[in-house]
Amino acid sequence: MLTPLDAWICSKIAPSVTGAPNEPLTRSRLEDYQLGRLRATVEHARSHSPFYQRQLAGIVDTGLRSLEDISALPFTTPADILAHDLRFLCVSQGEIERVVTLCSSGTTNAAKRLHFTRQELELTVDFFHHGMTTLVAPGERVLILMPGELPGSVGDLLLQGLERLGAQGILHGIVRDESAAIHQIIVEEIDCLVGLPVQLLGLVRHADAATIPPGRIKSVLLSADHVPAAIVREIERAWGCPVFNHYGMTEMGLGGAVDCRARNGGHLREADLYVEIIDPVSGRPLPDGEPGEVVFTTLTRVGMPLIRYRSGDLSRFIPQPCPCGTVLKRLARVTGRLAGRLQLASGGRLGMAELDEALFPLPGLLNFRAAVTVEHNRDCLQVSLLSRAGASAGLCRAVRAALEGIPVLRQAVAGDYLRIAPPVVMTDSNWQSSSSIKRTLHDYREKKKC
Ligand SMILES: [Zn+2]
Repeated sequence: MLTPLDAWICSKIAPSVTGAPNEPLTRSRLEDYQLGRLRATVEHARSHSPFYQRQLAGIVDTGLRSLEDISALPFTTPADILAHDLRFLCVSQGEIERVVTLCSSGTTNAAKRLHFTRQELELTVDFFHHGMTTLVAPGERVLILMPGELPGSVGDLLLQGLERLGAQGILHGIVRDESAAIHQIIVEEIDCLVGLPVQLLGLVRHADAATIPPGRIKSVLLSADHVPAAIVREIERAWGCPVFNHYGMTEMGLGGAVDCRARNGGHLREADLYVEIIDPVSGRPLPDGEPGEVVFTTLTRVGMPLIRYRSGDLSRFIPQPCPCGTVLKRLARVTGRLAGRLQLASGGRLGMAELDEALFPLPGLLNFRAAVTVEHNRDCLQVSLLSRAGASAGLCRAVRAALEGIPVLRQAVAGDYLRIAPPVVMTDSNWQSSSSIKRTLHDYREKKKC
């Protein structure tokens, strides 16, 4: 079985759709279910959430006749949650089990808060349980390199999901000491690792990685909004095991989509989420296959439902059938975030994804930071590197060459719109690990102009 998700979703939607419970999942059964859930979600939000009462007040008819009708409803944005999180609630605060606070990456210190009921956390545990059977067998041991101390945190929910499938989850948390994590992998005979892409790259490229017995690690799950293909290739090459992607954000209820064994696109959690890809400028839904912004509506959340939430992530649906035969929609690897893409003086746009794919293949590079400043009316790209001990000598030259190979940067340099500053190599001690924080391309140009 290449994916367990179709059977799982089939069993979840069976009580809500016509047909025999053991009837296989089809696209039309799933869409019947989604239409019913969309109608229910819109009505529930409009009746119980002060935010949506107001947001939907001007819309005379919210009765959806088809899935496409959802496009008549307004978007919900991260700024809406930032400003009014409590006005989204459809239940009393006493019914909220967990509040997740997300720090904004903007210039303010404002934080976005997401509220979940116990039942909603249960839905995520259920997704993790079934999703993880793609890559973990009962009896196997999984080291979780993500935060998990707090009840309801991603690590905690994953531990619960793994327990249900008969695997043993072991919480390590964010990696602060690679040697200690590698030691734990060996001593505890870990079969599978779950973590953030740059953190896993740090393990693969650590000197102690050679002490991990060949074949010890059987699978890796990388979870992030953007998983660089260069890091996937590096882990697969070093450890000879398949690397799976998980895409999710807190607003989705932490889990969103996971690869099947064909590892060709994330299979969406479609019983809980209705996902659209829209043109980020016009806001219009795009046909399957065209790249745009991921927008989703929650289908099973009663505490803080979200209608047409703009994720800011860039991806596309993969229209071709998956070798696993799934009827679920598949999301291509997220290629970056809208907000993180900077407009250069040359007119081109640069995002972390381009930098990631160009720089992470370079041996010895563990992480980097990048910022654009202004210098004599030109853009200036500054990159700081975290490198493996002893790897810095040739690395700066290689980084520079890799940066000059990125088309948008090459054009900007050729037109004298941009200078690439000599990369700065940092050591572990002055790096101040920011690995748990979203990696972004910083824009310091406005500040310098003032
Ligand atoms: Zn598949």
